[in-house]
Amino acid sequence: MSSSKPIVVSACLAGFKCRYDGDNNLNTHIEEMVKNGSAIPVCPEELGGLTTPRIPAEIVVQNDGSHRVINRDGQDVTEQFLSGAQKALKVAQEIGAESAILKHRSPSCGCGQIYDGSFSKSLVKANGITADLFIKNGIKVTTEEDYIN
Ligand code: SF4
Repeated sequence: MSSSKPIVVSACLAGFKCRYDGDNNLNTHIEEMVKNGSAIPVCPEELGGLTTPRIPAEIVVQNDGSHRVINRDGQDVTEQFLSGAQKALKVAQEIGAESAILKHRSPSCGCGQIYDGSFSKSLVKANGITADLFIKNGIKVTTEEDYIN
C-alpha cells in the first residue's frame, strides 16, 4: 500500500465471525492490518441488516436482464445488500480509504469473479454489490488472493 490512509477490508478476512455460516475467512496478514490500525473492517451484509448466521445468497440474473440477490430459500435480499453496500461505502469515504481488500467470490465483496446464482459453485465474471459500488466511486478493490496468508 502506498497510501498512509487506512484501507477497508472485509471483516471476515480479519477474523470476525460474520460469514453466512457464522464462521470467518481469517487471513493473518489482513488481521494484522486491522490490529495495527492500517485497515478498517466492514461486513456489508451485516451492515445491511442481515443476521449472522444467515441463508447464503447469490446474485441472480432475472428474465428481464436485471440483477437481484436471492438467498437459497428464494427470498429476495437485494435491498439489504444495496443498503449494506451504501453503508460500507460511507465508512470508506469517512476514513478516506483509497483502496479495499475484499473477500473473493462473495455476492457482496467479490471482485472480478462471483458465484453465478445457481448455488452450484459455478463462477461468472462479475463483481459483488459492494465491490462494484466501491469501484464506481473510485476505490481500488483487490481480493485477499493477492496477499500471502
Ligand atoms: Fe465477509 Fe463480505 Fe460476506 Fe461480510 S459480506 S461475510 S465481509 S464476504
